[in-house]
Amino acid sequence: MARNIGDPTAVTNGDLCVGCGVCALAFPKKVSMSRGSNGFEEAHLTAGSELTPDESDQFRRFCPGLGYERPRRTGGPQSTAMWGNVIEAREAWASDRDVRRTGSSGGAITAIAGHLIASGKVEAVLGIAEGSEPLTNEMRVIRSVDACATLSGSRYSPATPFQHLGDLGTGARIAVVGKPCDIAGLRRFLTSHSEDGYPTVVVYLSFFCAGTPSWKGTREVLSRLDVDGRELESLRYRGNGWPGKFSVQLRGGEERSMPYEKSWGQILNKHLHTRCKLCQDGMGSQADIVAADSWETDERGYPLFTESEGRSLLVSRTPVGEQIVQEALALDAISARPADIQSLGNVQPSQRTRREVGAARGLGYRLGGHSVPSWRGVPRWRWLARRPILSIRQFVGAFRRARRERRVSI
Ligand SMILES: Cc1cc2nc3c(=O)[nH]c(=O)nc-3n(C[C@H](O)[C@H](O)[C@H](O)COP(=O)(O)OP(=O)(O)OC[C@H]3O[C@@H](n4cnc5c(N)ncnc54)[C@H](O)[C@@H]3O)c2cc1C
Ligand code: SF4
Ligand code: SF4
Repeated sequence: MARNIGDPTAVTNGDLCVGCGVCALAFPKKVSMSRGSNGFEEAHLTAGSELTPDESDQFRRFCPGLGYERPRRTGGPQSTAMWGNVIEAREAWASDRDVRRTGSSGGAITAIAGHLIASGKVEAVLGIAEGSEPLTNEMRVIRSVDACATLSGSRYSPATPFQHLGDLGTGARIAVVGKPCDIAGLRRFLTSHSEDGYPTVVVYLSFFCAGTPSWKGTREVLSRLDVDGRELESLRYRGNGWPGKFSVQLRGGEERSMPYEKSWGQILNKHLHTRCKLCQDGMGSQADIVAADSWETDERGYPLFTESEGRSLLVSRTPVGEQIVQEALALDAISARPADIQSLGNVQPSQRTRREVGAARGLGYRLGGHSVPSWRGVPRWRWLARRPILSIRQFVGAFRRARRERRVSI
């Protein structure tokens, strides 16, 4: 059980580390991050280090690998247990055509980041971008509107956003972008360390997340494109259209690409982290503002991936988030039209299903001998009754997978 785990090495050994880097931020002399043989960025205690009992208690409270806690209700007429706090939901996109095109699903996050800097609300925005070495991601500190463009686009590979956040110094006013688990970990940590000299996070931005594929996933896509990683000049997972393509530029200038439907749907999503298979918060419930692909759906409700102009379902989860969205609209940084949060079940069916069968999956993993995160305040057993047959299948699949993975790791 995850509740017995009390340090980053144990989380990594339990196959639950999502690589957010918050433990390395909290205990910089005792924790380091590195890429494991499984192709994920993971946390470890440095040689000879151990956490004190007090540090272990703190760690258990913030580490997103170990669990999730439903946030306090912030009100909002569209809030539901399934989709979390919703002050307002809109379909939105960047008003600037270039930002809209290069962004993952319309560039609203990049446009809001630019607005936050232009309006002086924050000094810097922290986000993930392609690293200086091929096949790496790195956290960037963005201080100008133009530089926000370097963050645009989703990176479907491991990334460690918050390890070096402390370098920004006391009192710096910043915005952060991260996956839901990154945001949950950082928010929980900073809530109890606001007096300890860390920057002040004015707003937490996130996006819906189906999971992080390992670097092995990226390598498999490259191999299908007949590309050696050493030939790479740059790599984009999508964007430059909606959904855009997985595209690489080689050192000699040649470009190769693969449609999103194939790169994500047939390859990358087969390489997801185990923690992602157990995730119940792919909708960023701890963020102030969260964006999701607002896919068109077919008559059965399944997303269509036909190329069109990007747009996101943009959800303000807190009054802080809603105020920023309203200001970004008033200054024409983003454009929007009203949306109904209930449509999320149609445009993001996998997120709903994942919540409905989460308890069955968790039980399967647990009985199969795998550590599982805790989910405080999520009515998982009630949801399970909605999908009894699928839940049984998920339970059996999870149990078998856990047994198989245990055999491999023993
Ligand atoms: C691993 C992953 C899984 C996703 N799964 C889903 C899903 O199931 N459903 C869905 O609707 N959307 C999903 N998305 C998000 C989606 O692809 C869009 O990013 C989102 O809709 C926002 O679009 P945008 O155009 O406003 O973002 P953009 O303006 O393009 O900005 C993207 C932002 O995301 C940040 N970012 C990119 N990659 C990472 C990363 N690996 N870790 C942390 N931050 C990162 C960038 O720094 C940037 O600030 C996923 C994204 C990722 C990275
Ligand atoms: S805090 Fe983040 S990086 Fe550290 S062990 Fe937990 S999930 Fe991994
Ligand atoms: S699926 Fe959940 S655990 Fe995995 S990266 Fe996304 S938010 Fe984190």
